[in-house]
Amino acid sequence: MIIGIPKEIYPGETRAAITPALVSTLIKNHHKVLIEKGLGDGAFFQDDYYRENGAEIIADAVDIYYQAEVIFKVQPPAINAKLKKSEAELIKEGAAWMGFLAPLQNKDAIKILMQRNILSFAMEFVPRITRAQSMDALSSMASLAGYKAVLLAADHLHKIFPLMMTAAGTIPPATVLVLGAGVAGLQAIATAKRLGANVEAFDPRPAVKEQVKSLGAGFVEMELPGENVETDGGYAKEQSEAFLLKEREVIASRLSKADVIITTAQVFGKKAPLLITEEMIKLMHPGSVIIDLAAEQGGNCTLTKADTVVDKHGVFIHGAVNLPAKLPVNASQMYAKNIVNLFLHIFQKPEPDFEDEITRGSCITHSGKVLNNLVLSAMKEEGK
Ligand code: NAD
Repeated sequence: MIIGIPKEIYPGETRAAITPALVSTLIKNHHKVLIEKGLGDGAFFQDDYYRENGAEIIADAVDIYYQAEVIFKVQPPAINAKLKKSEAELIKEGAAWMGFLAPLQNKDAIKILMQRNILSFAMEFVPRITRAQSMDALSSMASLAGYKAVLLAADHLHKIFPLMMTAAGTIPPATVLVLGAGVAGLQAIATAKRLGANVEAFDPRPAVKEQVKSLGAGFVEMELPGENVETDGGYAKEQSEAFLLKEREVIASRLSKADVIITTAQVFGKKAPLLITEEMIKLMHPGSVIIDLAAEQGGNCTLTKADTVVDKHGVFIHGAVNLPAKLPVNASQMYAKNIVNLFLHIFQKPEPDFEDEITRGSCITHSGKVLNNLVLSAMKEEGK
């Protein structure tokens, strides 16, 4: 197939959807790879390196969209400022699109993909099953975000993380509280532990307690709801308001001791649960830091503003967005591996197999229809 990879146009995006090393994997699998000139600039992958690995370098994105049978992207379709058109309108009719699509937030773009008969796959809809782990970009990017969140916190904090015994006295370790111990949370715990902090964490899914403890962190105990808290896809279910009230009480009791809070709590496809209110922030000591990774889903903290550092009641609240773009080398390597694995899984057969859980689960539009039920009902609700 002819695979086209245009440059990312979303502001601040530094990742590339393919690395030079993975171009040669695609070539070995008998595909042709067209990349836009400067594709890897943000991640320090030079055009020559892509060329040496077999890619054809194309100066204009329009030529890529014109020729490609499948497009690889990181970010969902955005407006190409020069052409004043959505990228969803540039891809040729009947071709395939693979990338993050955020389909519940980008219904207009999904409608265009549907109307133009595009076979689209959303990386965030790859099911969280063992067989699909090597294609799970949401997890690989969340891992990097959890790591970077701790480095940001260490940078904001006017204290050190580790215990330090010096001739000038003993400095106790910083205390880090991680709320939500999924992929990002577990990586945040591991990173904060490596930096020497005292770490404790909470997550409503019972299986998580052992994982938190295995990283050497404490688990905050609280009464857990009796009902099943996990979906079949391995995600948390939405908690009741009574549960969240109780959880906020438990969190409040730890706040006076916390130097850093990293919040990562989310329920797939929902607004982030509110875990920290303004009243609770007043219980924190001045100079402490909150890094809210759920900022793009509305935030786990009332005062969070996406992509902004708010300084309120002496506490820094950082609404972190797109942290993987701050680690473009590894983020591109991991993302490219995920997308190539998904591509080979779907297209290394004469026809995509829609009976397959991974293909069916990640497919959003096909043959002029929206295939994904969640996206379909969200679009119907809005009359799209
Ligand atoms: P995940 O689904 O693996 O983990 C989320 C965790 O939150 C789950 O373990 C879930 O049980 C837990 N949770 C749900 N309700 C909770 C509650 N009431 N209290 C405590 N925990 C609760 O998700 P992830 O991949 O780790 O991502 C976590 C968050 O980080 C998401 O909001 C995601 O969008 C965000 N994220 C941000 C960036 C960034 O750059 N800012 C990058 C990647 C991911």
